[in-house]
Amino acid sequence: MPDLTHKLDGKVALVTGGTRGIGRAIVLELASNGADVAFTFKSSVSLAEKLAEEVEATGREVLAVESDAASAEAAVQAVDKVVGRYRKIDILVNNAGITRDNLLLRMKEEDWDVVVQTNLKSVFNYTKAVSRVMMGQRYGKIINISSVVGIRGNAGQSNYAASKAGIIGFTKSIAKELASRNILVNAVAPGYIDTDMTSALTEEQKKAVADSIPLKRVAKPEEVARVVLFLASQDSDYITGQVISVDGGMSV
Ligand code: NDP
Repeated sequence: MPDLTHKLDGKVALVTGGTRGIGRAIVLELASNGADVAFTFKSSVSLAEKLAEEVEATGREVLAVESDAASAEAAVQAVDKVVGRYRKIDILVNNAGITRDNLLLRMKEEDWDVVVQTNLKSVFNYTKAVSRVMMGQRYGKIINISSVVGIRGNAGQSNYAASKAGIIGFTKSIAKELASRNILVNAVAPGYIDTDMTSALTEEQKKAVADSIPLKRVAKPEEVARVVLFLASQDSDYITGQVISVDGGMSV
C-alpha cells in the first residue's frame, strides 16, 4: 500500500506575512503537506482572500488574520484568534519583513524604527505569545526568517541587517530557553529570492547579483519554503538553535 500520510498531518501552523513572496510559498508548502494554516498580513486583503482559497483547495483549513506584526498587542490578539479556532499551534513561522534601504547618513530615524519593529520586534511579539501555547502542549517548532544580510551585512541596509542579525541572536537564546519544553527554535537565512521585496532591481542589476552568487542564479520562494517544511517536520527533531542558509553559497 502506498503511504498517503503527509509530514504535517494534524499540525496547526501560524505564518506571519503570508500574502506574498516567501510567506505565501511557506503557507502553501505547509498546507500541501497536511497542516491547517493561519497566516497574518498587513494590508493585502484581496491577496489574502485568494491565498485562503488556494489553501482550501488543498483540503486544509485556513485562517487569514489582518494584523500588524510590529504591534505586541495585535500579535496577542492574532494568536488568541488562532488558538480560538484550532485550540493549538504546533508551528510558528516568523516571516513578516520589510526594507527601507539607505546609507547611514541619509537614513531617517523612522526608517530605522519601522524596519527593526517590523522585522525583529515582531519575532519577539509572536514568539512570546505563541510560546505560552507551545509550553502547555510541550511541543513546538519555531522558524524565524533571517537573511544573508544579517550574516554578512550590506551597505545601504544597516537597519535591515541589524534586524536580521538580531533574529539570529534571539533564535539561539530562545532555543536554549525553550529546549526543556520540547520547543525547537531555528532560523533560515535566505540569500537573493525573487519576490516583491527584490523586484525594484533592474534586469541588469539582477544579472550582476546572480553573477556574484556561487550557484549563479537567484532562488524562487518555494526553495526557501521547502527548508522551512524540513524544520517544521519531525525530520528535524534533533535540530535547534541553528541558522540554515538558503543562499546558493552567498554566505560562504
Ligand atoms: P514580500 O515583500 O514579498 O512580502 C512581505 C510579506 O510580509 C507580505 O505578506 C506582507 O503583507 C507582510 N508584512 C509586511 N509588513 C508586515 C507587518 N507589519 N505585519 C504583518 N505582515 C507584514 O517579502 P519577501 O517574501 O521577499 O520576504 C519575506 C521574508 O523573507 C522577510 O522577512 C524578508 O526580510 C526575508 N528575506 C527575503 C529575501 C529576499 O530576497 N526576498 C532574502 C532574505 C530574507 P502585505 O502583503 O499585507 O503587505
